Amino acid sequence: MKFVVAIDGPAAAGKGTLSRAVAERFGFAHLDTGALYRATAARVLAQGGDPADARAAAAAARALDPADLDRLDLRAAPVAEGASRVAAVPAVRAALLDFQRAFAAREGGAVLDGRDIGTVICPEADVKLFVTASPEVRAARRSAEIGQPYAEALAALRRRDARDAGRADAPMAAAPDAVLLDTSDLAIADAVALATALIDQKLTQARAPKAP
Ligand code: C5P
Repeated sequence: MKFVVAIDGPAAAGKGTLSRAVAERFGFAHLDTGALYRATAARVLAQGGDPADARAAAAAARALDPADLDRLDLRAAPVAEGASRVAAVPAVRAALLDFQRAFAAREGGAVLDGRDIGTVICPEADVKLFVTASPEVRAARRSAEIGQPYAEALAALRRRDARDAGRADAPMAAAPDAVLLDTSDLAIADAVALATALIDQKLTQARAPKAP
């Protein structure tokens, strides 16, 4: 059976942890789509290029290789910044579209997390969540995760949010039918429990025999 869970939201809101937890809980495959943009940026940076250079970014996206997703520098701050620059290039998004849609179409269920999954990549997703949290809470998490000073992490997140939400092509946005989950004051276990209940309910509906 095909079943798609789309999880969108800004950086460090808890999407990744939530996605991995529900994928494991339901035995679905998981794709962190941010890693595709990060790997594209890392390729450009490794060649001494500028992630904002549309040609270089598009060429890097087309040349992506599965091994690029295992690069050790994908979580580094300059790569995150570069990712949001390459992500604003329409040719980059176009190059990564088919891979994401094919992943979502697999048998056995898929969880994709990103910025435009419920709006552009999988508008027909069975479950859509938009996971958010205040910039301050997210900056504190990011700072602890990668050891970046808090003020720097906050400024970088604000810059990235503005770029991701403000770009013309597939901006970060909650789909009108997405369920909003604010993790500012919510423990991850509680967020997972809410998401699990929602997915359980939709799975039951999807598995119910159709009326003849
Ligand atoms: O989620 P993560 O922080 O790894 O994403 C890195 C960057 O990739 C984001 O800031 C955003 O610019 C871009 N991205 C995107 N669309 C997605 C996933 C990530 O534009 N579906």
